Amino acid sequence: MADLHPVSEARELVLSSVRPLPAEELALGDALGRILAEDLASPLDVPPFDSSAMDGYAVVAGAAGALRVVGEARAGHPAGVRLEPGTAMPISTGGAVPEGADAVVPVERAHPDGGTVRVPETRAGANIRRAGEDVRRGDMVVRAGTALGPAELGVIASLGRPRPVCALRPRVALLVTGDELVDPGEALEPGQIFSSNGYALRAQIEVAGGRVVRRETVRDEAASTRTALEHALAEADLVCVSGGVSVGPHDHVKDALRGLGAEERFWGVRLKPGKPTWFGVRGKTLIFGLPGNPVSAMVTFHLFARPTLRAMQGADPDHERVTAVLDEAIRRNPRREQAVRVRLRANSDGWHASTTGDQGSHVLTSMLGAGGLAMIPPGEGEVAAGEPVEVILL
Ligand code: AMP
Ligand code: MG
Repeated sequence: MADLHPVSEARELVLSSVRPLPAEELALGDALGRILAEDLASPLDVPPFDSSAMDGYAVVAGAAGALRVVGEARAGHPAGVRLEPGTAMPISTGGAVPEGADAVVPVERAHPDGGTVRVPETRAGANIRRAGEDVRRGDMVVRAGTALGPAELGVIASLGRPRPVCALRPRVALLVTGDELVDPGEALEPGQIFSSNGYALRAQIEVAGGRVVRRETVRDEAASTRTALEHALAEADLVCVSGGVSVGPHDHVKDALRGLGAEERFWGVRLKPGKPTWFGVRGKTLIFGLPGNPVSAMVTFHLFARPTLRAMQGADPDHERVTAVLDEAIRRNPRREQAVRVRLRANSDGWHASTTGDQGSHVLTSMLGAGGLAMIPPGEGEVAAGEPVEVILL
């Protein structure tokens, strides 16, 4: 770990290794959270026809008066006849405005009386939704690279597309290493801890769009590390290993990866927490060796593996960032950029950030309530309270 890479340089090395995955057609109902892999232009006007915005009467705009009531235009049941001057047609919200009509009088303002209805003065276009007011035929509506949330799914449905083309979800193998690890639910023997990374990283993978195809706890032993990695490399687009990438005598991950033909792209980032982060590739598979410390694992996943998974799916890998005013001083680290977990609060003068407490890389509760990572550049002294800092949102 001779020369540590600045965070931005490590990120570049990672992203320049990414190749986007192929795409698949998906049923709209299964596409929540997926990344769209095609530019979607509208094949039709939305709404497709002029329709009423109100329950009321379709009329020819003009002066107040009594009109003869004819026919009906219900939603889904166009009247199919032309509206003549001097007549009014009952119409429902969403009903097609009959030919000849150019205004709708809301039912609240109309006074039916036998076969006629009295209406106030109306102007052309009143209470009519024009065809194409939402989307015009040919408009580009949702671009490739967009994450499909509820609004996107609704809009795509409104265009009549049942099966949008979405990027495949990257297959991810998650290996957590350590003789001390036991899963929640098992008994804790002396010297053991519960494996939090297995759950936190798995959740981060899923939130970033990855599909966990293998999840394994691996002992600190060369042969089993190699076997687990061999399977992981064969099955996954991305391998995430936690722990075992440091310089201890029981850290076998890097040697095993080298033995399996993985090329190291970097080892060591000028980052706190997260210094021993390792990244490499074998063929089309990308590999992260994340530090075992739970906070370091989550932070380095967020900074490096999340952008990777997004880029594999054709989504923008950039993190959302805000500038926030620090509410307390933070001591700089002379050599390493720091990713400080902060609570965010919106004030009348913008965003404010305060630390979540003890920032030790083993203090996983420092991630609770953290809205972002305040990125503190290396240097002497401190960033004083009241100064602005850049925050990567979590
Ligand atoms: P390592 O990177 O393997 O040297 O691990 C660094 C620290 O992280 C050690 O204190 C480990 O016990 C801890 N650690 C490693 N893996 C996990 C895990 N899956 N869950 C919780 N802590 C872990
Ligand atoms: Mg370990």
